Amino acid sequence: MTEEEAFEFVKNTLKEERITPYHKNEIEIVHSVEGCINCGLCINHCPVVAAVGVDRFTGPRSIAVELSRSPPEFWSTADKIYLCTGCGTCREVCPKNVNVPEVVNLVRARIFEHRPDLVPKGLHMVREIIVEHNLAFEPWEDPEEKVESRDVRLERLDIPYTEDIIKKNAEVLFYPGCQAEERAQEVREAAKVVLNYFDVDYTLLDDMSCCGLPSALMGDDETSQRLAGLLKEKVAGLGVKKVVTTCAGCTSNISDISLQDQWSIPVYHMVEYLAEEVGLDRLKQALGSSKEFSEVTVTVHDPCHLIRHTSRRTMQDAIEILKVISGVKVAISEAEDSCCGGGGLVAYHSKDVADSVVQENLISIDKTGAERLVAPCPLCTAQIEANLFKSGSSVEVDDLMVFIAQRLPKK
Ligand code: SF4
Ligand code: SF4
Repeated sequence: MTEEEAFEFVKNTLKEERITPYHKNEIEIVHSVEGCINCGLCINHCPVVAAVGVDRFTGPRSIAVELSRSPPEFWSTADKIYLCTGCGTCREVCPKNVNVPEVVNLVRARIFEHRPDLVPKGLHMVREIIVEHNLAFEPWEDPEEKVESRDVRLERLDIPYTEDIIKKNAEVLFYPGCQAEERAQEVREAAKVVLNYFDVDYTLLDDMSCCGLPSALMGDDETSQRLAGLLKEKVAGLGVKKVVTTCAGCTSNISDISLQDQWSIPVYHMVEYLAEEVGLDRLKQALGSSKEFSEVTVTVHDPCHLIRHTSRRTMQDAIEILKVISGVKVAISEAEDSCCGGGGLVAYHSKDVADSVVQENLISIDKTGAERLVAPCPLCTAQIEANLFKSGSSVEVDDLMVFIAQRLPKK
């Protein structure tokens, strides 16, 4: 047998056995698993295990110890692997830095490649939308209805509408993410009001497309990479120097893409951008003397994609910003940094699990006595708001950008 024939033989055997050799960038993740000492610390901190028990979700240790070492049997655990929200708590507490959330993504990618029939139906539906529209949410059929919905939301929140700015060579690309583009339009508009107020030289994309995170989370690496490439082309074509987003998931994903592909362009969450580039002094000047609003006690939720996938610093910045707003008192919730259940696309196929995970947050939010909750992510905001409403709580929920835009003096 020649070397080439031997190579073909091995490749075909692997294919028959449904084994995909690890890519270079996956080797480090696989090696991290070898460090597991089976201590079980991660299980005690996993919010999904706490919410639904180990019978429904075997938890991070099982993923690290058993699942990750049996590539041919990845699919035998398909009913469990899709229940991880990707919160990253297990990785944070692990004494051996085992990267369980990345192992989960790797296993989901293998299942998607070899046994797509085992991928939950809800994720296939999201995939169809992404492949057809390059967006993770079905775009509005009627553009006029989209505008009407936006205007109703803005009127209710007393946030002015400002025209979109689309131009080349702006300093900043403001990237709202799919949710704020198609659903939580008030977040996109509020961020524009804030950027305009502080005279930031920014542009939007003329044709918004997904950053690829939802595709990566469902295991569709091909689509995820295509979308990342598309965004890279758009960013390069616009000639911007910075990217700013209002979504925690987009922030962590685009930061990773920028680092891996050496974009040499820093990626910020709006909160970070305001704290670092605008500065607390200017924020205080603008937000610190309004008499228009009555005093309010606010509590916050920390999105996992910011604190555990990007940097805990961002939420410290968020608290600092809230503290300079006149009349705002901040009350910290005990479960402030606990996953809300909205991540990992879990709600798209197992909503009961996502909604069980958020219960701990709801109890702690109520205990703070706060009248409002703010979160710098439309996904967390929607998940917590829907569940607080269901529970009969009177706590109002807003995205942090909406809260800030409402309190800026009208120019
Ligand atoms: S905390 Fe880390 S070392 Fe301990 S069982 Fe979990 S993955 Fe293994
Ligand atoms: S990433 Fe979060 S949900 Fe997933 S296994 Fe780890 S702690 Fe549990």
